[in-house]
Amino acid sequence: MPKSFLIDTSRCIACRGCQIACKEWKNHPAVHTKQTGTHQNPPDLGPYNFKLVRFKEYKMKNRVEWLFFPEQCRHCLEPGCKAGADAILEGAIIKDPATGAVIYTDLTKKFTPQQAEDVRAMCPYNVPRWDTKEGKLTKCDMCIDRVQAGMVPACVKTCCTGTMSFGERDAMLKLGAERLAEVKKTFPKAQLLDPEDVSVIYLVTEERKLYHDFAEGRAPMPVPGMNRQEFLAKLVKPVRPLIG
Ligand code: SF4
Ligand code: SF4
Ligand code: SF4
Repeated sequence: MPKSFLIDTSRCIACRGCQIACKEWKNHPAVHTKQTGTHQNPPDLGPYNFKLVRFKEYKMKNRVEWLFFPEQCRHCLEPGCKAGADAILEGAIIKDPATGAVIYTDLTKKFTPQQAEDVRAMCPYNVPRWDTKEGKLTKCDMCIDRVQAGMVPACVKTCCTGTMSFGERDAMLKLGAERLAEVKKTFPKAQLLDPEDVSVIYLVTEERKLYHDFAEGRAPMPVPGMNRQEFLAKLVKPVRPLIG
């Protein structure tokens, strides 16, 4: 049965426990970072930061409001990154049929930096990152090792506020609908982000564009008369083929 996350940002307190748990489980090293005038740190996702709690600050209702967004790969049902990678080298990015996890294999080491950029450009949420040290493309893998062993992902396990849930897709969709109905009583603009397209479903309390640059997704939606497969095929065409 495919798995899904529900990330209910109305419960997030930005403790960053999930961000740290991800680094710990992945044995990722500390990276040099800098203060950029926000509590968001490091400033962006990176090859050693698969999870990042994004912070946005707004003046709303005559007071300062924080919007928190614990970002990670959405494990799309029809991943644009995989469509792009398949056009270059079959098997570099795979989708685990049991869980729906989108996994980057070491075959991404065969990508040139430009090919990696082409694949990155296929992700509507700007998630994959190029690891210059290892020479490969990388991102969250749904903690596939933990999930296959019957455990929840490390980020979910550590979240102490109930923001993050993980389980069977049907159960997460049901929970998302229930939570949305409840949260809307306080936040009328609350919404689920792309629940039909992704395995990591966010519940946000405000307009999605307020959360971060790619919260709305940057790929244009399929044009009228074109289904999603045809749309992706059209996008894949400019991707450079693997030479040699
Ligand atoms: S651990 Fe939970 S509450 Fe803390 S930042 Fe992550 S999602 Fe938010
Ligand atoms: S969010 Fe981006 S990187 Fe993750 S599966 Fe979807 S297209 Fe691929
Ligand atoms: S599922 Fe695992 S790899 Fe992905 S963000 Fe959570 S802890 Fe990191």
